Amino acid sequence: SPVFLLSATDVAHFPTEARTHGAPEIAFLGRSNVGKSSLINALLGSKEAHVSSTPGRTRAINFFALHEGAGEKKKVKPTLIFADLPGYGYAKISKSISSEWPTFIEPYLSERETLALGICLVDTNIPPQPSDTQLIHYFQQTQRPYLVVGTKADRLSNNVLAKSLAALKQAHEIEEILPVSAKTDAGTKALWGRLMAVAE
Ligand code: GDP
Repeated sequence: SPVFLLSATDVAHFPTEARTHGAPEIAFLGRSNVGKSSLINALLGSKEAHVSSTPGRTRAINFFALHEGAGEKKKVKPTLIFADLPGYGYAKISKSISSEWPTFIEPYLSERETLALGICLVDTNIPPQPSDTQLIHYFQQTQRPYLVVGTKADRLSNNVLAKSLAALKQAHEIEEILPVSAKTDAGTKALWGRLMAVAE
């Protein structure tokens, strides 16, 4: 079960190795309203991620530790750390990554050595967004591992979803996109498989 570690408003407050034991970290990134907190809640089976979801509340990166086993058998070192980054692109400068890029996203991505996989969330219900391309290209250019996940797939018919995924692949110049739904749980098992593949 997940343990909330802390809410960091800058690099100095990121959890140290004493808290994480160097466990591999998964970062969740996406535009505001992409369905990030719903997906994290679906993955964790809890309401953990709701802390950060409302714009206007303190903007912060929320860290969670996931442990295998339970009770006395619980390992000291977490299996995975989840980092829930603030949603970008909700502000006036909606075409870019706006203020979150210099304050949260870039410092996080450049500093966090234990980052094992960036989950870049894109909404399958809207056309490809330039801000998402910007984020994905950052991962490509810095050669950091990432996976693009298409949210809210339940809202589209198979045919329309296939077209949307093709358009997203082309616009973001990616080979793969994993469709999921926090509402029906479609794709979440496949996503867990990808997350556990980076766990030690
Ligand atoms: P966040 O701002 O990225 O954390 O987005 P939220 O998780 O708060 O979701 C934004 C809106 O999209 C809410 O109205 C959710 O109910 C809706 N939503 C999120 N995930 C899904 C999904 O998988 N399917 C559907 N149909 N709606 C979703």
